[in-house]
This record gives sequence, C-alpha cells and structure tokens, in this order.
Amino acid sequence: MPGRDYYEILGVPRNASEKEIKRAYRRLARKYHPDLNPGDKEAEERFKEINRAYEVLSDPEKRRLYDMYGERWEQAAAFQQARQQAGAAGPQGGSFTWSTGDIFGDLGSLFQEGIFGDLFETFFGTRRRGPSRGQNVEVPVEVSLEEAYTGTTRVVQVQSAEPCPACGGRGHAFGAACGRCLGAGYVEQPKRLEVRIPPGVRDGSRVRVAGEGRPGPMGGPRGDLYLVVSVRPHPRFRREGDDLHTEVEVPVEDAVLGGEVEVPTISGRRIMLRVPPLTQNGRVFRLSGLGMPRLDGRGHGDMYVTVRVRIPEHISEEERELYRRLRELRRSGVRR
Ligand SMILES: [Zn+2]
Repeated sequence: MPGRDYYEILGVPRNASEKEIKRAYRRLARKYHPDLNPGDKEAEERFKEINRAYEVLSDPEKRRLYDMYGERWEQAAAFQQARQQAGAAGPQGGSFTWSTGDIFGDLGSLFQEGIFGDLFETFFGTRRRGPSRGQNVEVPVEVSLEEAYTGTTRVVQVQSAEPCPACGGRGHAFGAACGRCLGAGYVEQPKRLEVRIPPGVRDGSRVRVAGEGRPGPMGGPRGDLYLVVSVRPHPRFRREGDDLHTEVEVPVEDAVLGGEVEVPTISGRRIMLRVPPLTQNGRVFRLSGLGMPRLDGRGHGDMYVTVRVRIPEHISEEERELYRRLRELRRSGVRR
C-alpha cells in the first residue's frame, strides 16, 4: 500500500498534537474495526492502513524519522544505525534491506491472533508500560456424562509463544520495531495440547492450565488457559450435584409380589435392585455411592431410582380371566 500519506490517512494536519492523532486514530479504528465489519475487505484494508499510520505517528521518534524521510524512514533509520555500528566502513552490500511491507503486511492475521490486542493496550496506555501478565484464554469443550464420570482428555489447539528469533525477544532491531514480531518480542505457532479433565467435572467447570494463555506484553508472564466444560445431557440420568437420578420400569406383578429389576449405572455396570412386595408407583430407592465421583476425590454421590410400575400392553385371554377374578375378589372385600 504505497503512496498515501500517514497524516492524510488519519485526517490530521502535519502539526497535529499527539492527543489529536490519538483521537483521530481511536475514531477511525472503531469505525473500520474488522469485528464491526465482518467480511468487508475494504474496511480491513483501511483498518490496516490506519494502524500502520498510527504505529508511526504515535511514536515521537518514528514520527520524526517519517517527517524527515517519508515512507522510507525505516530503511533510513536502519541504514543510519548500521553505519554507526560498522564505524566508518559503512554497511556491506545491502545486508540491511527490508521493506515496510514486511513489517505490516501480516497485521490483519496478527490481529486475529491477538497480538494487536497487546499493541492496542500498549498504545492506549490502558496498561502500564512495561511487562505485564498476558490475558487468559478460554476454550469451550463438551464431554459426555460417562466421560465426566471417568475423567477424560481433550486435545486443544493453542498458540505457543517463542522468543522472536529475528530480534531475540527484544521487539526491536536497529532502532525500529522488529519486522518479524511487530515489536511484540515473541512469535506464535499453533500447538496441540492434551489437557486432562478430572473425574467428577461439572457442567460449567473451568479446568485451568497454567501459563498457556496469551503471552504478556513486553516479555511479561503468560496468562492461563481455561477449558470451559459443558456436560451433555444424558438420556437416562439426570444429575443433581454429585447425585444421579434415573427411573426404572417394574412390571405390575413384581411391584405387587416383589422381585428384582435390572438398573443401569453410569459406570456401565448393571446391578439388580430388589423390589419389595407392594412397591408403590413413584417410590424412590437410594443406591449409595453409585453417583458421580466427587471432584475433591472423596468418594461418590448417590443414585436415586424412581420406580415406574408398568401395566402390560397386551395380555392373553387367560391373564384377562385372572385379572377379572382378581377384581371380583377385591370387590367382595375378601382379604381386606
Ligand atoms: Zn522480533
């Protein structure tokens, strides 16, 4: 994007104060921010252009060089610096050529990854200048109730932050912002991280991984990574705290005479529940220790089983006859 003058881009006069420049930048950055203009390529270009202009004009030394050398101020500064370091000999055969395009070309993608957020805070002074802690990062993950019972792992993609190889983590070289890391001092690469999710995890639990969040501006410590867990609803079990609730169907004869009924458990183990004679519909049995593991590792919750007495949907003529007989017996008051 050669050509346009930085003052023109921000719409301020050449003698504008720092305050005026900042105000103009804030207004324009808000207007063309990619989050407010999703998919708008033109707004994205404008946003880059605005940031590029502000990066230079907000820094008194860079602004001075820009006023002096125009668009090629960085080469000029690097050239000067190299000359000073090399003494009288001067730079050797173009070893210090880099273009301004390299420095800002990736701003769009870096913005997506959050580096710009750090710079933004640095520019606006919403943080103290100097190293500060990086932001925490939250990643949503979903687990089944069975996984919450046993504990599980999830592989999440995070950004690793390595000291920038171009500037050794200093963020600048030859008096100019480092072109590789945009002055941040670190470079990022996608990294896969396996995170353990403990048994007993609840819906909304946050699993913390220390030091895997955003890098701190200017070499500050990294923030933390949080996996925000949602536990999928289960077709058979309803969870209340560490307790589980379920229902089991009991044939009417077993409810009357007593019997055994198979009950599913979240661990997959099937157990037999003894149903005493004359068990009423809706009766609840508590099965101690068959609920979810407690997060603190101290045992398990309980499982509550509600009996649903099942009336047969089809019966034979013989059964019908027996039911008729049963009805007569109960109506005549025998055994009451
Ligand atoms: Zn660097």
